[in-house]
Amino acid sequence: MSGENERDRKSGGTSFTGEDGWWRRPFSVFQTNLQEIDATMDVEQTLDRIEAQGATTWLINTGGISSFYPTDLPYQTRNPFLADRPSGDLIGDAVAAAKRRGIKVLSRLDFSKVSPRIAKEHPEWLFVSPKGEPQIYNTLYSTCPNRDYYQNRSLDILDEVIDRYPIDGFFFNWFDFSEMDYSRVYHGVCSCNVCRERFATYSGGKELPDGPGRPNYAQWLSFANDLVTTLCAKISDHISARRPDAALVLKRGAPIVYYEANNAFGREPWHHNTSENVGAHMTGLPEISLLVNSVSFIDMPYRMSGEQPEMFAQYLLQAIARGGNPSTYIMGAPGRIPYANLPVAGQIQCFHRNHHEIYRGLRPASNIALVRPDPVRRAEPGYAQSVSEFRGLFSGLTERNLPFDVVAVECISKIAEEGRLSQFQMIILPDLGQVGSDTASALDAYVAAGGNVVLTGGSAITDEGEGELATGPAIMRAGNVLTGSDLWSTFVTDAEQTQSDAFCFAPRMVAVYGTYANYVWKPRAEKMGRLAPQAPFGPPEKCYGHILSDHPAAVRLINGGSVTQFPWTIGHTYREFGTTEIRDFFLDCVADLATPTVTAELPDQVEIVVGRSDAGLVIHLINQSGMRTRSVGPHLPISGGVLRIKDGVGPARLLKSDKEIEGQTEDGALVLELPELGLYEVVVLPEAAQ
Ligand SMILES: [Zn+2]
Repeated sequence: MSGENERDRKSGGTSFTGEDGWWRRPFSVFQTNLQEIDATMDVEQTLDRIEAQGATTWLINTGGISSFYPTDLPYQTRNPFLADRPSGDLIGDAVAAAKRRGIKVLSRLDFSKVSPRIAKEHPEWLFVSPKGEPQIYNTLYSTCPNRDYYQNRSLDILDEVIDRYPIDGFFFNWFDFSEMDYSRVYHGVCSCNVCRERFATYSGGKELPDGPGRPNYAQWLSFANDLVTTLCAKISDHISARRPDAALVLKRGAPIVYYEANNAFGREPWHHNTSENVGAHMTGLPEISLLVNSVSFIDMPYRMSGEQPEMFAQYLLQAIARGGNPSTYIMGAPGRIPYANLPVAGQIQCFHRNHHEIYRGLRPASNIALVRPDPVRRAEPGYAQSVSEFRGLFSGLTERNLPFDVVAVECISKIAEEGRLSQFQMIILPDLGQVGSDTASALDAYVAAGGNVVLTGGSAITDEGEGELATGPAIMRAGNVLTGSDLWSTFVTDAEQTQSDAFCFAPRMVAVYGTYANYVWKPRAEKMGRLAPQAPFGPPEKCYGHILSDHPAAVRLINGGSVTQFPWTIGHTYREFGTTEIRDFFLDCVADLATPTVTAELPDQVEIVVGRSDAGLVIHLINQSGMRTRSVGPHLPISGGVLRIKDGVGPARLLKSDKEIEGQTEDGALVLELPELGLYEVVVLPEAAQ
């Protein structure tokens, strides 16, 4: 990746952040994702519903695949059902009615597909599969982001809408290379002439890959990401030049970035997806607003089957707790398809709207950071284990009620440059592999200034086995990484183990799974715990013989702050085995590295998110007792909870239960006895505003 592209990616691809734009204040969205037949919808009834849902902004289909206004562009398709509308113009009616109520309107456009007529007139705009075939889905032809339709005609379409309507912003659907269609059929990477040439230039002459797992695919993902980011920035600049008060919503490189909170059958559930993604955005790119578009149906092939309300509530709560702007997304005109989540969605979005002053400027404010693997590296070996490591540690921190922020690994050097890394007392890197020299330098400077870094698995170790951090305890890897069945029946222990010669063991004997590597450690490094390498594990008669080694469970080097390295995948082990002994072993080893801003006496199932806004310290408590393997059911009310807020000054406002409590000061902490916790509570300490 070139230096320029790397910079672009860290900044989200644009220098434009629209500091004074309406989207820099909290907002709340309702999306009606229309079918062609909705061209006759009643806009006043729809706006009544939007207001009742607590939304301040309406996201409505406008153009691209089908135009919901009478377009005059030859390469656009007028929705034929507009003929049944008296005005012949849904967008004109919708914008006029919304303006009368002070509701903002975002226009949804989709450049990813064109009609057969346009495809025949412009075959040069189309996706070409590795076999030379077009991609056709429900009569529509997929287009290539490298070609003229995406690159230039998109600007003409924007101009037509801007010239006709006082739109407050634009949302582009899909806006990426179309490798997979809605039926999950894989078509390959676009292999048109322009893609072929540009990838060759980008990669120093390499061929396009056939698909995931094939040579050059990981590099193609970077190529595709850079290309789309550059195009996003170009369109964003165009909009801000044409209409500075209009926002652009994109996956990256725009004044508003959107994340879609959704479900999918066949995908391993991860109930903290929204927290993870909103957290990673808000720590890395706080200058760019985030829209969390939450999907009301269970998956695209089942758009008429509503999402479980409690599952949907988690999307919205995890979004607002970490500073995202909530959005509910339904199909069609409201009322045409039944969605059971809408009552709870309305309650949460109304709560957000009624407390905009609390959410204004809300940013993450924990002093523990958990670093997230870079999704752009998802095709690289080790990525899946890194995600598992991240999720295991995420769960462990959450269950112990420890508030933490998520930091995207690709944003660490940007956060450091902005002087914000020092917010954290401890930064945990979960089995990330090589992090690169910029990130390593930023972390070294952070440690030199007193910060604490925790590495697990192969974090900050180069592909060749060298330690990347000058402040880290490892010099180099020694021998092969133990993995797979070579590591079965391996343990670490932090007990003295005085009778291990007789094969009697004291607690804790903690399972080691995934990978373990031996390193040459720096002489000053302090070893913690010991490894009991593999011994026979079957049959039971022969299942003994563990001999403790001098290899450590963890190693720490103090250099101003410290670097603690677990040379194995402890988070992945916890994710796979689920015994709290593993979780607690990790958290006990690092307990002295950070003093959490907030501690709690609450069950494992309460996620605590600490933020700071113009209103003060803002603490979200999210009751996750309803979480199930596949979905989320009703929560259990939780009574007897206690919060301890370091350096806190009462009284505290409890926004959900609409109470003010004084609390008591103990050992410099404000102690709050909480009323019964329902689905969520928001505690605000105005005195703590900084
Ligand atoms: Zn192409």
